[in-house]
Amino acid sequence: MKLLLILGMVAALTGPQKPVVVQSPSGALAVTLENPSGELVYDVSYNGETVIGKSSLGLVTSIGDLTRDLTLTGVEEGRVEEQYGLRTAKTSRVNYVANELTATFEGKDGRVLTVTFRVSDSDVAFRYGVSVKHPAREPELHRTIVYSEASSFNFPEGTTTFICPMAEPGSRWAHARPSYEEVYTPDAPMDVPSAFGYGYSFPCLFHLGSTWALVSETGVGSGYCGAHLGEYQKGKGYAIAYPSQEENGGYGTAFAAVPVPFSTPWRTITVGPLKALAETTVAYDLVEPLYEASTAYQGGRYTWSWLLWQDSSVNYEDQVQMIDLSAAMGFEYCLVDNWWDQQIGRDRMAELAAYAQSKGVSLMLWYSSNGFWNDAPQTPKHCMNTAVAREREMQWLRSIGIKGIKVDFFGGDKQETLQLYEDILSDANRFGLQVIFHGCTLPRGWERMYPNFVASEAVMASENVYFTPEDAAREAFDLTIHPFCRNAVASMDWGGVILNRHMSRDNRSRHARTTTDTFELATGIINQSAIQCVALYPNNLTEVPQFELDFLKGLPSAWDETRYVDGYPGKYVVLARRHGDQWYVAGLNALKEPLTLTLDVPMLSGQTVRCYVDDKNGTPTLTSLKIKADGRAKVTLQPNGGLILCR
Ligand code: CA
Repeated sequence: MKLLLILGMVAALTGPQKPVVVQSPSGALAVTLENPSGELVYDVSYNGETVIGKSSLGLVTSIGDLTRDLTLTGVEEGRVEEQYGLRTAKTSRVNYVANELTATFEGKDGRVLTVTFRVSDSDVAFRYGVSVKHPAREPELHRTIVYSEASSFNFPEGTTTFICPMAEPGSRWAHARPSYEEVYTPDAPMDVPSAFGYGYSFPCLFHLGSTWALVSETGVGSGYCGAHLGEYQKGKGYAIAYPSQEENGGYGTAFAAVPVPFSTPWRTITVGPLKALAETTVAYDLVEPLYEASTAYQGGRYTWSWLLWQDSSVNYEDQVQMIDLSAAMGFEYCLVDNWWDQQIGRDRMAELAAYAQSKGVSLMLWYSSNGFWNDAPQTPKHCMNTAVAREREMQWLRSIGIKGIKVDFFGGDKQETLQLYEDILSDANRFGLQVIFHGCTLPRGWERMYPNFVASEAVMASENVYFTPEDAAREAFDLTIHPFCRNAVASMDWGGVILNRHMSRDNRSRHARTTTDTFELATGIINQSAIQCVALYPNNLTEVPQFELDFLKGLPSAWDETRYVDGYPGKYVVLARRHGDQWYVAGLNALKEPLTLTLDVPMLSGQTVRCYVDDKNGTPTLTSLKIKADGRAKVTLQPNGGLILCR
């Protein structure tokens, strides 16, 4: 239920224009909007300290430049209160309360720009509206192009960054970039050019002494392009940038094409201590479901042969082994990756699906999104890129009992590509299919907008742990950043709790994993996705201690609540997540030395809990731990080690 109370309205402002201010319900977070010399400027403060200094606003459109010659003509203030449910994100019930301010500006030639700010206790969000003052005088004006956006984020001097560069379009493997699979640099100064000269992909994490800010966007579907942050400019900060023309194989526009009137997606800034970032629901607070679920979609866990067994494992016999593994573990799903159409074939896939169903396991099948936007050779191709092809394919998928698809290798952030994501999702819903995306963009509110959306890769994922020792060495670092950044705003298909010691089928050859088993088990809780990959292999059933397997058998993937406990991006993280009445406290340590913490875990106070932790040699142990009545627990996490506390 959404409630919008209009608290006050000032129409037809006259005389000198004063700054207008909108504060969060607690008053700690405040946005000031000013209109000096026809331009539009905002700033953000938190507890009286500047988070974002004076920064630009406005749009450049084909019907007018709405970054200048603007006159404030009205201000409307209100309060938004909404309680809503979420099936596939970090919490199941959200109570969103924010103050809203909409300022209306008149530009040249009767063009009208509105800026709406919503300020909750942890998040600032804003979006634009464009309309014409006298539509009756311009009966042929019904559309516009938005060429660029002036919105910028001017952080104070000394702010450091945890941001990930946008890749050069059409670069790297199979010319498939950008796919949000680049490396984060921790606590870096702002005035360093990005690695490839294309700015930074959302979300972008900024560190301002005791306060943090996470910049992203939400509500981006078929009606707009995806945005990112451009290069840093001294005195101006980072401005919103739209996709490059080279994305999507050069096809489609580098701007947004919209009807008039219209509203843009929301730009979001989560502000506060790390708790605010880890717990934010801003990506979901500002969007609405775009259609109803056609069936009661189920979360769960999936096995995935491809991560360590690679392409050659996509054959009937190996997939039977993985289905049997899912069945033995009580997992709901098994994901069959690329080349299944050639290496298994469609007829035998129907048999394999029937076999899986006989074992109580549902299959999910891989597809390329192609098209023509990159040179990825994997098949099946040309099944997901047009409505006609999808209709035929999804009919067949439903007829053999397939429950989900993973669609890979998209073309970037153009509106054209955002339309494809939405079309795949809405078509899949008609056939009862859940959808995971890989080689893709960041989902922007999609868990709420599209009820059959599960999660996206859009991260330097587990496949890199397999590919190179250097990436394997970075696993702990990466997974302690994401809870405050990538995974804070969207579900993440990182691709697996890994228990093989070595990144190979024989578990002896190739490079070793650098994390402990407890670390990996804890990633099953820290990494949030509604269908969690457990990259377990049949050999693990006899190689790892039974208590590890027992833990994974009971691993939830749906969370009713998420609470920050402790952490620092790139160094360590401890989160508590609740499933029903069961709390799971999980920690990851990316430091090179043991980390002793006194955790504040009031949800477990006075209880004796199971404690999964590593000994000094990194060997996983299961002990019990009595949590003090005051909710304090002293624990030590080993280097690249982990922790789980649960009943
Ligand atoms: Ca990938």
